[in-house]
Amino acid sequence: MGKKIKKIKIGLDFDGVVAYNPFRVVRAPWAFFKNRFLGYKKLVFFYPRNTWQQVFWRILHDSSIFPSKGVNLLRQLVKEGKFEAHLISGRYSFLDDQLNSWLKKNKLEGIFTTININRKDEQPHLFKKSMIAKRKLDFFIEDNWDIVEFLHNVHGEKTKIYWIYNLLDRHRVHKNKFPYLEMALVDIVEVTMSQSNIHSRRQRGIKEK
Ligand SMILES: [Mg+2]
Repeated sequence: MGKKIKKIKIGLDFDGVVAYNPFRVVRAPWAFFKNRFLGYKKLVFFYPRNTWQQVFWRILHDSSIFPSKGVNLLRQLVKEGKFEAHLISGRYSFLDDQLNSWLKKNKLEGIFTTININRKDEQPHLFKKSMIAKRKLDFFIEDNWDIVEFLHNVHGEKTKIYWIYNLLDRHRVHKNKFPYLEMALVDIVEVTMSQSNIHSRRQRGIKEK
């Protein structure tokens, strides 16, 4: 009723949440085979000979990254003014320039209210812990299970920790787990919409008395 609606503050990890790295997918079966079959250790040293191997190799070592399924929805929600998005990257090696050009290239420039990079090379989970508190986030989306578990124990009361799982660790139990960004965002929209409905119904209830 003319009253400004409070924006939902969400935080997003970069690698594995906003950006999708194919390396992450192939790493899992490789690790499995290496542990399972001794002979497979030799594969680590393989030299890429044919074209597809070289393409594959470049993807692995370039750490080429693509926008995750869900960035379009993220962009839309921010533009509609429903969400305020904060990028929180624990990666020190991923430099400012690279990050900015990637965001520009993928038309995600200006979407984030703040971009928080771990410049002091803190432990990623501790860096994220302090940034979540500093930005007073309602939700934080993270793909690393260890970090999810840690943050949930520390911040679970105030900030809902949403987990983007992968094939290997999908068996782990966590209340808010999703296969990719879009699913997590849809859930946040649903959760916050139902909360605001309850809220407005309550407000109406008070007025009617
Ligand atoms: Mg990550």
